[in-house]
Amino acid sequence: MLEESHYYFQKAADVLGLEDRLREILWSPIRTVKVDLVIDDDNGRLQHYQGFRVQHNRSRGPMKGGLRYHPSMDEDHAAALANLMTWKTAIVDVPFGGAKGGINCDPSKMSERELNIVTRRFVEQTKEVIGPTIDIPAPDVNTNAKVMGWIMDEYSKYAGFSPGVVIGKPLELFGSVGRDEATGRGVMIVLEEALKDRGKAWSDISVAIQGFGNVGSNSARLIAEQGARIVAVADHLGGISNEDGLDIDALVAWAEEYRTVKGFPGGKAFNGPDIINWDADVLIPAALEDAITEENVEGVKADIIVEGANGPTSPAAHEALVKRGVLIVPDILANAGGVTVSYFEWAQNIQHPWQRGSNENTNGLLRQYFPKGMDLSEVSQAKLNAIARRLNERPRKTLNFETPAERFNQCVASTG
Ligand code: NAD
Repeated sequence: MLEESHYYFQKAADVLGLEDRLREILWSPIRTVKVDLVIDDDNGRLQHYQGFRVQHNRSRGPMKGGLRYHPSMDEDHAAALANLMTWKTAIVDVPFGGAKGGINCDPSKMSERELNIVTRRFVEQTKEVIGPTIDIPAPDVNTNAKVMGWIMDEYSKYAGFSPGVVIGKPLELFGSVGRDEATGRGVMIVLEEALKDRGKAWSDISVAIQGFGNVGSNSARLIAEQGARIVAVADHLGGISNEDGLDIDALVAWAEEYRTVKGFPGGKAFNGPDIINWDADVLIPAALEDAITEENVEGVKADIIVEGANGPTSPAAHEALVKRGVLIVPDILANAGGVTVSYFEWAQNIQHPWQRGSNENTNGLLRQYFPKGMDLSEVSQAKLNAIARRLNERPRKTLNFETPAERFNQCVASTG
């Protein structure tokens, strides 16, 4: 995955005409932390896991990025995803840098007690390098509000009351209304722009979604609310389809109970990986990286792809899709709704008193902050044109630099 994100980075750097020195600085993470996590499992046996945190860039503010619990998590994954976070926060112009991390554990095989302990060990071992003004974790694959609450609690034992150390917390623990669904809402908003670009209405389109966790299920619900048909959904165990449109509320309830869409009675079952080649107008990969590759790209039928997941399209598949005129809304824009609302939560946490807010407020703010009126046909030309263009735009706020790219340069220069 690191190689792939380097490929997109270099393409963007070419568009921007960045000098080699700045490319080197912008590509390299500032810190990589790897920790050994030893816990007593429920049977009294010692278990070892590895935890990772890669802090990529802090030029624009404290670093921010998800924490992923997955057996495939390693240093390269964390580095590639941390890199994406830097560009993502820049695109939506929130004052954060980029970081990412995780633990190479499989939560489906662990009890809640074991997850709690491994999370607390991770905080214990990384407490010197995270913090509200340093690096702020957030939910990602297989982590949720509960895990974020454990992180806040453990970190606060060492540093004192610190709600701003982590984002995506439960509401009662200083979380933000709307954070849970924010990434899905961002996906819906950019799809709305993509439809305008293609001259289509919500009622015209059918949508296939890979992944039905936080991003997939919230995207499905919000897109269905606009009047589109969600005709197929797949997760790691299988897929379910209905040409008339799946009943998303019922599917969400099913997935909450059984932790999979497999077996849902309101549709026909299919083999999960077939989702990528589903006959639908829009495809939303919202699971893991490398969902669309050279192997399956020829069979892609959608003419709009909104990358809910990070890194779901390999460079070769991306080039093939662009050649065919498929409109791809890249991850760093498509799933930036989460980090946008993360900023609201963090700002509330560090300012005290906490503003309770409402869904309406958060959604209104998200629409206000989220990139609008982007020429998505230009985005489809080359994935990283999106970065280049956003970085070359004047920031919304008046600051003493012309563009965010210039700001990177100035920050690097003035901090030595
Ligand atoms: P999640 O753990 O809530 O859900 C992941 C979903 O993907 C589950 O439905 C799981 O069954 C499915 N999945 C896993 N492996 C699969 C496979 N091989 N084939 C098909 N489905 C598979 O995770 P999430 O938070 O929804 O994150 C999904 C993606 O979105 C990740 O790439 C993540 O980095 C990205 N993302 C998440 C957020 C956020 O706010 N949660 C923000 C930005 C980007």
